[in-house]
Amino acid sequence: MIDDTCIFCKIGAGTLPSIKVAEDDKTLSFMDIMPQSPGHVLIIPKTHGAMLWDIPADAAAELMRQGQRVASAVQRAFDAPGIMVMQLNGAAAGQTVFHVHLHVIPRFGGLDLKLHAREKADPAELAKLAERIRVAL
Ligand code: AMP
Ligand code: ZN
Repeated sequence: MIDDTCIFCKIGAGTLPSIKVAEDDKTLSFMDIMPQSPGHVLIIPKTHGAMLWDIPADAAAELMRQGQRVASAVQRAFDAPGIMVMQLNGAAAGQTVFHVHLHVIPRFGGLDLKLHAREKADPAELAKLAERIRVAL
C-alpha cells in the first residue's frame, strides 16, 4: 500500500530523490538528510503505515532484517563503538515523518548526538558516507 501524500512512500517509489545505501523489493535504506551523527541511515518498508503496528508483521520482519544488515555495515564502515537503532511512533515520541522507519545512528561516545531532524547535511558529504556503507554491506 502506498500513500500519495507521504514523502517516504515517494522516496521508496523513487519519485523523490534519496542518497541510497541499499534497496530490495520490500525495503529502501538511505541517508538521513538531517543526520544526528555522521553515517545516520534510515530504513523504510516500501509499504505505507504510519506506526510500527500499522504494517503487516512480515513487512516489519523484512524491515528489521534489513536494519540488522545495515546496522552491521554502518558499524564496520566507521568502526563505531556504538550503534543506536531507533524507531519513533507518534508526534509525542518525536516522530516527524509518519511512515514507519528505523534509524541507524553510529555513536562515538559521550554527548555526540545532534538534535533530531534539525540541520541539513552537505549532500556531497552524505554521498561519501553512503559509499563507505555500501562497500561494507
Ligand atoms: P522521525 O522524526 O523519526 O519521523 O524521523 C524522520 C527522519 O527523516 C528525520 O531524522 C529527518 O531528518 C529525516 N528526513 C526528513 N525528510 C527526509 C528526506 N527527504 N530524505 C532523507 N531524510 C529525511
Ligand atoms: Zn508512506
